[in-house]
Amino acid sequence: MESSHDNPPALCVLASGSSGNCSVLRSAGGELVLIDAGISPKRASVALAALGHTLEDVSAVVLTHLDSDHFYSSWATVAPKKLRFGASVWVHASHSRERRLDPLHEAGCLKTFEREAFEPARGVAFTSRLASHDAEGVATFRISTPQGELGFLTDLGEVTDRLVDFHCGVGVLAIESNYCPRLQARSARPDFLKRRIMGGAGHLSNEQCLRATEAIGPGSHAVFLHLSRECNSPEIVGGLHEGADYARTIATAEEPTRWVSITGARPAPVPVTRPAPMSLFGPLSGPLSGPRA
Ligand SMILES: [Zn+2]
Repeated sequence: MESSHDNPPALCVLASGSSGNCSVLRSAGGELVLIDAGISPKRASVALAALGHTLEDVSAVVLTHLDSDHFYSSWATVAPKKLRFGASVWVHASHSRERRLDPLHEAGCLKTFEREAFEPARGVAFTSRLASHDAEGVATFRISTPQGELGFLTDLGEVTDRLVDFHCGVGVLAIESNYCPRLQARSARPDFLKRRIMGGAGHLSNEQCLRATEAIGPGSHAVFLHLSRECNSPEIVGGLHEGADYARTIATAEEPTRWVSITGARPAPVPVTRPAPMSLFGPLSGPLSGPRA
């Protein structure tokens, strides 16, 4: 049996983008926690199988908010049947009255959190702070394990000083880098949508993400989430963080990332994969991935 030293907790983003968001956090003991469930249970099952896991390894699902790209509705009926016996779905108390959650209420597996720490799997403690996102807000998480800490922030209109303080000094930071403002402005999207995204209660631009990442200062690794397909690219995001002293992983809508170990230590430098195609702005050399966990 592996010791926790051999098998540190780790994060894999199965999918991230407006078509669906789902990440998996593996504890040192091998339990899985899904952070958001915005892809179908079937797709999650296939992605987990490629990692050597099944839905029965999932002890809990923790939701940042209930937009359909973060909570695919059929999980409400599938979770009580297919996940590990006794698994819970956790939502912020302010989101818990949503009708789509009724089957979870009825099955007795819906749990709520506010500001106090909760432990959806052994050795994995989540603490949450709400951030602005549309009318209902979004939960951000500081996740503590004995081996290291993970900050998780997606779908938020701005990163306030209070949020920076709350997440400061985590080993790994997973944070959205949603759009390039120039591509957003040039896009054919309707003005109301541009205002919603850029108006302080929508999504983070690449520059807002860069400033927040620098202020929070992840000890080892930054994982960039929820890139807009229309108004962003991995090359642009990678280029902005070039030269940073944290390893980088850029999540995509289609392919799971590698496992990123949740540790506080800075990894030794390793060669990184560089994207081959040219971007609109020339051959940016943003590293796509850090060390394999
Ligand atoms: Zn979203």
